[in-house]
Amino acid sequence: MPVGSPGGPRVLLRRLREIMAEPKDTQTRLDMVVRAIAANMVAEVCSLYLLRANNLLELFATEGLNPEAVHNTHLRIGEGLVGLIAKNADYVSLPDAQAHPQFAYRPETGEEIFKSLMGVPMLRGGRVIGVLVVQNRTMRHYEEEEIESMQTVAMILAEAVASEAPPDARYDAQQGIPPGIGAVLAEARSHRFHGRGMAEGIAFGNVVLHEPRVAITHFIAADVKAERAALDAGLQALLKELDVMLSSDKIARAGEHRDVLEAYQMFARDHGWTERLHEAVESGLTAAAAAERVQMENRARMQRVSDSYLRERLQDLDDLSNRLLRHLTGQTRAPGSVQLPDNTIVVAHSLGPTALLDYDRSKLVGVVVEEGTDTSHVAIVARALEIPMVGGAADILDWVEPGDNIILDGELGAVYVRPTEDVIAAYTERMEVRARKQAQFDALRGIPAVTKDGVPIRLDINAGLIVDLPHLDDTGADGIGLFRTELQFLISALFPRFEVQRDLYGRVLDVAGDRRVIFRTLDVGADKTLPYLRQRGEENPALGWRGTRLAMERPSLLKYQVRALLAAAAGRALNLMFPMISEIGEFKQARALVDQELERQRRLGQTPPACLRIGTMVEVPSLVWQLPHLLPLVDFISIGSNDLLQFFYAYDRENPKFAGRYDPLGAPSLQLMQHIVRQCDAQGVPVGLCGELASRPLEAMALIGLGYRAFSMSPMSIGPVKLMVMNLPAAEVAGLMDEALAANRHDVRALLTDFATRNNIPY
Ligand code: PEP
Ligand code: MG
Repeated sequence: MPVGSPGGPRVLLRRLREIMAEPKDTQTRLDMVVRAIAANMVAEVCSLYLLRANNLLELFATEGLNPEAVHNTHLRIGEGLVGLIAKNADYVSLPDAQAHPQFAYRPETGEEIFKSLMGVPMLRGGRVIGVLVVQNRTMRHYEEEEIESMQTVAMILAEAVASEAPPDARYDAQQGIPPGIGAVLAEARSHRFHGRGMAEGIAFGNVVLHEPRVAITHFIAADVKAERAALDAGLQALLKELDVMLSSDKIARAGEHRDVLEAYQMFARDHGWTERLHEAVESGLTAAAAAERVQMENRARMQRVSDSYLRERLQDLDDLSNRLLRHLTGQTRAPGSVQLPDNTIVVAHSLGPTALLDYDRSKLVGVVVEEGTDTSHVAIVARALEIPMVGGAADILDWVEPGDNIILDGELGAVYVRPTEDVIAAYTERMEVRARKQAQFDALRGIPAVTKDGVPIRLDINAGLIVDLPHLDDTGADGIGLFRTELQFLISALFPRFEVQRDLYGRVLDVAGDRRVIFRTLDVGADKTLPYLRQRGEENPALGWRGTRLAMERPSLLKYQVRALLAAAAGRALNLMFPMISEIGEFKQARALVDQELERQRRLGQTPPACLRIGTMVEVPSLVWQLPHLLPLVDFISIGSNDLLQFFYAYDRENPKFAGRYDPLGAPSLQLMQHIVRQCDAQGVPVGLCGELASRPLEAMALIGLGYRAFSMSPMSIGPVKLMVMNLPAAEVAGLMDEALAANRHDVRALLTDFATRNNIPY
């Protein structure tokens, strides 16, 4: 029956469904499938190629070509017409295939007698997993409808093949059975991503998408009329949603966002798009499957275009398809509502610190983001929670599926999706090596951090939540050099009450005992937004209402917090510091507020802290130029190098494009750090550094060379930094830094690496 005749593609789809449900082995079913397609399409040949891990397309089943060629014919991506289809992720239809310059003759197949060829890619998640081809002896012109229905069949087939039960490769090998289809796909779909380590550690787990892709359960329409109506209703609902979004106050004011939404509206009304959706429904797919099919074609196009403007538009269209799919399937996008599997590895385009904290800590073992830098707050939270994290895994969302096996290496910044057996074996071994290294660090726990030439170095941890407290004992740290109080505010659904705050701070002091804790007052704003605190929309949140500025604008926030801190510290030492101070006036204002609260405490006859030390973070460059006047007013200072360097070099610490762009061991930043430590030493004011810089042994070594003696870092860095300190001749590195800075050397990193290697200093 010619495919163009009514019922053609639908009859074939029904037949496919029957075949795939047969209780036969996969190869037999694939043989039946190609036979059924050939008959339905009135073609002498139908062949199915699947992509293997070595990027070769292997002939897996054929009707009409020499059966001996099955599993023996291979083509590279881009080789021959089949390779061309895979490369372009697009169909080819030729009445005279042999006349095409790409035609590659394979004698073993016996295909020389066939003139015409039509082939389509088998797409899954926007990726090519195989190619489906029909051939005829005559110079046949394949109709548009026929191509359309081949594409539909290829999509269903891709789904069916990919969902084959995973193989027991070891059993098959023992029995001398060649790897089954499942094995081929598992192997072919395994993929490595190179990103950047944002939080150390290795994790094995299963993918959970932060914004999950919509799962479709029914592909083939039982009633085309009903699916047509469902598609129309879905499109209407989508348009309505966009109208509502566009009319909201916030959007009405936001220029760029509005443009994007208007472009969405345009797409949603675009005839090309809606027509393709309708055509897919007419070919026998459910409305949801039709939306997914059009989305996959779009994704395949996206991979082909290099023009960034066009790519972005296609990305918009992708998002629009997702929205439509959600309407059609009624699935929500709330990440918190999904039941997490054990060993969850969350994969996201980007993730804020609050979104990370939303996930159940007992299930979450790792995080991968397409964007992200190691000084972004989400990375800091991941390190605090000891959750390995990798950023910069570009396009990983195009490859992963929920539930996929995944290995994440936060040290090397690598991610393995659907890892092969050898990768799993290699990582199992690495985990063992890490465990041995950890045991080495654990052995240092009780030993003080003193350099080889007897200089004591204070090593504190950064913390912010109750879960961080055991790290004090685990690491043998001297204390908590930065307690980020905002983390408690970030994880609460409501503003934490006075008692809740007081109890948390009290608990921290209880656990710390004699060890010093420096509490930093609330530092919200920028990417740390509180859901219950209404903040105005800002063009540049990093330079906006944040830190102490925001706290002074809403003094009751800071007042209650200081009150809670004073109450918690009754009779004990209290160390306080303020974030994001830009000028002395701000410090004085914040300090005055503490004095008022102290006075109130005294008036009420409450026990004050045994001693109160007040300092400030130095994380805005303007403050560095006021040190001579600031230092007499403070008890200590702590350098927040994450923000200080972002403002110093004028780069956005959250923007992955800048990751690694400015080296903290470059001459400008080292000179800045040297200037600060010299000023503090001259006035006898203790100075420490609590930014991420302190967590890296080589950077910490440079800072010791400049004269720094106190660092606060993520708990997992205490071991490696202490090992470096214990092997370091401090006087020698000081000499090296003096010379390098005097000569304005721009290769300090290389100098230090060389120095460390020569002196056997682990870094
Ligand atoms: C810093 O800026 O270096 C710092 C420690 O503060 P945060 O990372 O919390 O902004
Ligand atoms: Mg900061």
